[in-house]
Amino acid sequence: KEIIEAPILIIGSGYGGAVSALRLCEAGKKVVMLEMGLNWEKSGIPFSNMLKPGKSAAWLKKKTIAPFMNIFSLAPFTGTLDRMDFENINIWVGRGVGGGSLVNGGMAVTPKESYFKEVFPDLDSEKFYSHYFPLVQKELKVNVIGEQFLKDCPYYKFTRVGEAEAHKAGFKTIRVPNVYDFQYMEKEYRNEVPRSAFNTEVIYGNNHGKNSLDKTYLKKALETGNLEILDLHHVENIKLNGDKTYTLQVRQTDTSGTTVSEKEFNCKKLILAAGTMGTLQLLLHSNAVNHFPVHDQIGKNWGNNGNFMTGRNWVKPLSGGTGSKQSTIPVGGIDNWEDEEHPFFTEIAPLPMGMDVATALYLLINRVDKKGEVYYDPDTKKISLDWNQTNTVKMRENADYFIKKMNRANGGTRSHFLFNNGFGANVCYHPLGGCVLGKATNEYGKLKDHDNLYVLDGSLIPGTIGVNPFVTITAIAEYCIENLIRQNEFV
Ligand code: FAD
Repeated sequence: KEIIEAPILIIGSGYGGAVSALRLCEAGKKVVMLEMGLNWEKSGIPFSNMLKPGKSAAWLKKKTIAPFMNIFSLAPFTGTLDRMDFENINIWVGRGVGGGSLVNGGMAVTPKESYFKEVFPDLDSEKFYSHYFPLVQKELKVNVIGEQFLKDCPYYKFTRVGEAEAHKAGFKTIRVPNVYDFQYMEKEYRNEVPRSAFNTEVIYGNNHGKNSLDKTYLKKALETGNLEILDLHHVENIKLNGDKTYTLQVRQTDTSGTTVSEKEFNCKKLILAAGTMGTLQLLLHSNAVNHFPVHDQIGKNWGNNGNFMTGRNWVKPLSGGTGSKQSTIPVGGIDNWEDEEHPFFTEIAPLPMGMDVATALYLLINRVDKKGEVYYDPDTKKISLDWNQTNTVKMRENADYFIKKMNRANGGTRSHFLFNNGFGANVCYHPLGGCVLGKATNEYGKLKDHDNLYVLDGSLIPGTIGVNPFVTITAIAEYCIENLIRQNEFV
């Protein structure tokens, strides 16, 4: 077995991993990053779009797994989109260099300050709103669509109809910033450059336009010369050694998922950034197989960020439908957060099926009144989730209220076309929590009961943040790594 020594190791190349890598590399540290997914840029393999799913469509599956589109058969390949199925909830995650940034919709939303303060009472929110959030908006290249373009472009009819209907029903709408380059989008509309958002590319990766992490944080980190990214390297488990260093068992695969070599990595400092579910799997599995110490807060305070999908079909398409041409990049949202009885935020989501399906799709983000818990199942050797209908009661009530109010004002029915009973309580894109900042870790993400182990990803956020989470994950990671470096944790 090959044994590799690396002083600082990062597991995972999503938001938390990419921020940590850049700031450590800038501080002159040599960093090795292990990512189970493929380095798509290096591979030269193009991403596929939603209407013609190919290699990038799914992580080692025989069928596509994008919601409403699981109809295409595939040859198993280390694709960008994975789905982890639990008893009452399915969780979608990104795989590959760039993590979730490869597959997500790019919605770059800063949380409401009042809610941020409620979720993180111990953080200096002023510093976050004056420094960390502006910093990550700049690094992630967040921008906003031009209003005139939005008004004129046929690919945004779904947004215009969605907003007009929301207003008619008495809801407030907001413009949603994104990391997709809207200058590029205007050019693609004029056919001056290859199309991506207007060519149904998003959930299996974008070939153009989207500033995913490989174009921002990771690119900058690689430019320092201090970062090495090893893709197709799956960390199986971690062992704590007597001298407080760590040993990782790692399986290198090819793109069919077949093991090509088994490796052992030894490191002095370890950063877990495998995403909420990946980090929890590694900690709890390592605990089971290696007596790896885990604090009793690990797995607690898990939530789905209030994700609740729902939709409407029009009986009589009063608004003329949502359009057969649809951009994959959402730019509109409905903000009902201030309503004390039914607080929620929802994205006016595209449904680019290549035809006018006269259907409106919404991903609601609610409060999480009752948190769940992640635990380890020794039989399957995988994590399980204590999460059921009692956790989503209020989310369902909000979705019901929203759909009824929209239908009363605009016509239409709850979407039985998209969901069995009209509701998708089991759809989760935003798993958060389980290693909560200040509870399972110290105030900067260093895990309790450990001297050299840090968690920097979505698991630090206690199950809810009220908006799409990657801006917050990135800002928290910036805050933690800055302070960890300042405290000389990595000398
Ligand atoms: P991730 O980005 O999940 O990165 C973790 C990485 O670790 C992955 O690349 C994974 O392959 C790797 N990894 C895991 N386990 C191992 C292991 N054992 N060994 C090696 N590598 C490992 N959020 C928004 O804010 N806006 C949006 O518009 C939005 N849209 C979304 C759409 C979809 C379809 C999905 C799935 C998510 C969306 N999200 C969105 C959520 C957002 O992408 C995630 O919250 C974010 O990516 C989480 O960041 P992270 O740093 O915690 O980990």
